[in-house]
Amino acid sequence: MSWPAVFLDRDGTLAAERGPVAAWEDGWLYPYTIPSLLQLQAMGLLLFVVTNQAAVAKGVVTAVQVECVHRRLLAVLEGAGVHLAAIRYCPHHPNGTVPRYRRACPNRKPGDGMVRQLARTFDVDLGRSWMVGDHAADIWAGLSAGTHACLLASGHGPTWRDWAEGMPSVHRASTLADVPSLIAGQKNLRTPQ
Ligand SMILES: [Mg+2]
Ligand SMILES: [Zn+2]
Repeated sequence: MSWPAVFLDRDGTLAAERGPVAAWEDGWLYPYTIPSLLQLQAMGLLLFVVTNQAAVAKGVVTAVQVECVHRRLLAVLEGAGVHLAAIRYCPHHPNGTVPRYRRACPNRKPGDGMVRQLARTFDVDLGRSWMVGDHAADIWAGLSAGTHACLLASGHGPTWRDWAEGMPSVHRASTLADVPSLIAGQKNLRTPQ
């Protein structure tokens, strides 16, 4: 039995797009994030966060800071009844200034490394799963791994709004708040070939 899942981008999807985040801030999550995640969870979907954090490679935040923010995110969501199965981030960037993190990485979206690894680890049925994000890179990562994909108009969305024009396999929503009903209406749909 493989499980359907939602792979969620972090910045601009769950939380305000504020550039590199070095520490947890109350009010960072969008007000609709927890109710939306509760709905997705109630639909039987595993929830994952997959996020590019090239600010680590650029020396703007440390990996420890990113991981502290993620521990807090897990705890805040858990306290509200939302269980994230896992959070994965890619700290790499080919033009990074921190040598340890300066490289092209297949996990960096639009690469699908994080999605595929999570799918293997958690026995996810990618064809019944979704990638949700506010950036073209999110959409590519999902489609490449074989999920459905939904581009949001939050975060970078205004910049990318027209990007998905002409791509019939990409769904769109204003924010994460619209995603549960979108998925509920599409759940028998297979990934377009
Ligand atoms: Mg984003
Ligand atoms: Zn990486």
